[in-house]
Amino acid sequence: MVNGGHNAVTDLHGRPLRSLRLSVTDRCNLRCRYCMPETDYVWLPREDILSFEEMATLAGYFADVGVDKVRLTGGEPLLRRDLSRLVRLLLRDRRLTEIALTTNGVLLADQAQELYDAGLHRVTISLDTLRPERFRRLTARDEFARVIEGIESIGKAGFTDLKFDTVAIRGFNDDELVALIEFARHYQAEVRFIEYMDVGGANEWAMDKVLSRASILEHLSRQYGAITPVSERGSATAQRFLLPDGTSFGIIPSTTTPFCAQCDRSRVTADGLWYLCLYAASGADLRKPLRMGESPERMREMIRSGWAARQDRGAEERKALEKTGLRAGGLIDIERLREDPHLEMHARGG
Ligand code: SAM
Ligand code: SF4
Ligand code: SF4
Repeated sequence: MVNGGHNAVTDLHGRPLRSLRLSVTDRCNLRCRYCMPETDYVWLPREDILSFEEMATLAGYFADVGVDKVRLTGGEPLLRRDLSRLVRLLLRDRRLTEIALTTNGVLLADQAQELYDAGLHRVTISLDTLRPERFRRLTARDEFARVIEGIESIGKAGFTDLKFDTVAIRGFNDDELVALIEFARHYQAEVRFIEYMDVGGANEWAMDKVLSRASILEHLSRQYGAITPVSERGSATAQRFLLPDGTSFGIIPSTTTPFCAQCDRSRVTADGLWYLCLYAASGADLRKPLRMGESPERMREMIRSGWAARQDRGAEERKALEKTGLRAGGLIDIERLREDPHLEMHARGG
């Protein structure tokens, strides 16, 4: 069976299903203000969390209908013991040609080599500031030095494709854009500035904290001179740009310029709920049928028909609310979040 071939499925807007974000845990060792500012959360019940074998089985069903990329995320994915074992299990399926990891980097130094040896293709490290004190204020943890150790370990382990994801927040790190580009250059990495999104609820989002793509470009061109967009086709979330000296960087403008029209990704939570969109209010339960021993054909058909009926364009719909002044605070109110932990970004993987 060839991916993208006769078994591939498209949704109601003609978008194929290519990429799967697999959240391996909802827990995290940081408390980033834009993601998990509360001290404590209602965690997913332990017995509901999928085993690595269950995750790999599900990923195989997704590959049956066209998925070839899997990104491991969370929560903090490296909190899941022996994550390299999951990488190995996934790579047994030859149709999965790209396995990537998004991590905050705190636990990376200890695991980079085993992840590389297991065959992990690429790593993205979230890095919002280069100032230890700011990091502590942002994350409520004093772990900046360990993140730097994690970054150092990547090249030593053998990885060549490193990216840094930076949530660009007005009044917080807008004075570090240049420093982050220079830092990334030092590690032969590429930094991608993500516009602050209003996913979830307890994320302290407000429109005036969003540093827009336009502001980022204006700021950087003042420093570096003319910036050239790189024309790329496809479904990449990041728009890439070149500085005059050829250094590249990306912007993920989800808030001001959503890219839902090209979106080919969906996400599975650590307890096996399948969300068709980052902003979706509910997901389909794949854990129950999987654990009840549903046949591969039935599982595949659930995924195929779920995707075929998809019409989600969450970020575009949020943007449309701006016209009526209704895009004020977070997406979901705090009481509802307490009732359903899946609604937060850390449960569905960013
Ligand atoms: N813990 C890992 C990490 O931080 O890389 C993986 C999970 S985290 C939810 C995935 C990504 O979502 C991170 O790069 C994070 O910066 C991003 N993210 C979380 N909340 C966000 C928000 N409100 N707006 C934009 N990006 C956000
Ligand atoms: Fe920060 Fe990632 Fe943890 Fe969210 S899941 S609090 S972005 S480290
Ligand atoms: Fe895809 Fe939903 Fe994000 Fe739009 S908001 S790009 S449809 S996940």
